[in-house]
Amino acid sequence: MARIKQAAPSALTVAIIAVISGHILGCAPVEREPTAEAPGEPEAQQADTGQGGQVGAQPDQASQGAESTGKYSPVKARARDFYAPNTEDLGPDEMRLIACGTGMPTARPKQAASCWLLELGNGDKFIFDIGTGSAERIAALQIPYNYLDKVFLSHLHTDHFGDLDALYVGGALAGRQKHLRVWGPSGETPERGTKYALEHLQKALTWDLDGRKGLTDPRGYNMEVNEFDYMGMNEVIYQENGVTIRSFPAIHSLDGPVSFVVEWNGFKFVFGGDTYPNKWYAKYAKGADLAIHECFITVPDMIDKFKFTPQGALAVGTQIHTAPEAFGKVMSIIKPRMAVAYHFFKDYDTTASISDRIRTTYDGPLSLSIDYMVWNITKDDIRVRMAIVDEDVWPPPATDKPQLPDATQRIPYSDEISGGRLDMKKVLQPTYDEINKQYGIHEKQE
Ligand SMILES: [Zn+2]
Ligand SMILES: [Zn+2]
Repeated sequence: MARIKQAAPSALTVAIIAVISGHILGCAPVEREPTAEAPGEPEAQQADTGQGGQVGAQPDQASQGAESTGKYSPVKARARDFYAPNTEDLGPDEMRLIACGTGMPTARPKQAASCWLLELGNGDKFIFDIGTGSAERIAALQIPYNYLDKVFLSHLHTDHFGDLDALYVGGALAGRQKHLRVWGPSGETPERGTKYALEHLQKALTWDLDGRKGLTDPRGYNMEVNEFDYMGMNEVIYQENGVTIRSFPAIHSLDGPVSFVVEWNGFKFVFGGDTYPNKWYAKYAKGADLAIHECFITVPDMIDKFKFTPQGALAVGTQIHTAPEAFGKVMSIIKPRMAVAYHFFKDYDTTASISDRIRTTYDGPLSLSIDYMVWNITKDDIRVRMAIVDEDVWPPPATDKPQLPDATQRIPYSDEISGGRLDMKKVLQPTYDEINKQYGIHEKQE
């Protein structure tokens, strides 16, 4: 079990009291080293990071100056306690996990559905699930789309793959110049498998894809589908560049759902898809550095807030999914360095009851996740923060030179539709002149 640092004794006291009272907001009692700039300040910090717990405050490079003075300054920056995308290097022995969707099947502004981005210090990046609404969270992270070409699906509910089309097409348009590679489980019948689902998803996109031919770099508009046996017991489904990913079954709705284990550089990361608590997770997730597992909203909240019938709430909230108290039981068996709960609407009036129920069965390190929560994991430290994102973000430049579209690939309009054009030649010609001159090209209007 790794050392988890605490800023000051007063924060530790707060955390311990919180645990005793059962109202801790996803933050285990932790031990932090005093930071040079923070005497007397940690209680506010503790409250701010109630979603996941501040674990190990490291000064970022921008504020090293203030850090070294050991005191507050009216002109020097203090250490940030949030993650600003595209401002931090990832160490060679470090992993970074970012929650890009933590909520329910019905996405809402605060929470997209299941999606997790795992970044490794060797440069590899993996997306686990791409649920409804999550593609915009990924966009906010300012990562070139060429690096976002590997997606692993736990199962085929839309809250776990509903934004695959958005990443597929939007990513290609914004700089992914290679196939999107997708891994997902088979089903009990071929029609319930990932291959069938994604072949038909691509068919559903026929109009979209045909309409882009001859207009954009075509290389990203392809999908490599890797379907693996959902019954595989910790079987290897991916092995490249020192990274091994295995899958094992989950118990959820129908046969087919799975969970994943990633092993790299001595680290073990586990992503659990939707499931009733199962013996395979208890076995194969043991000792994970970070273990994600679903944790559904409480049955009373399903009835009161989600308007389920009591019968439906009991069936869905405890039998199809994992209830909070059962989540805690699973984590007390596998004992991860950090347990991460997701799949609930995390609000001011739902968090305490979920935490209370988890704490009846588990007292270890815990993050009750929310979108944009970030974990930096090294051998001896796990730092939990929130990302602060820029809503005006644009896609980063492509990592390779764009390929010119082949205009001969355009599919023409019918004469009837083409004949409906208003005459805009004079209006548009100045723009053609401007761009032709600026870039030394000779484009003509259609
Ligand atoms: Zn599901
Ligand atoms: Zn789900």
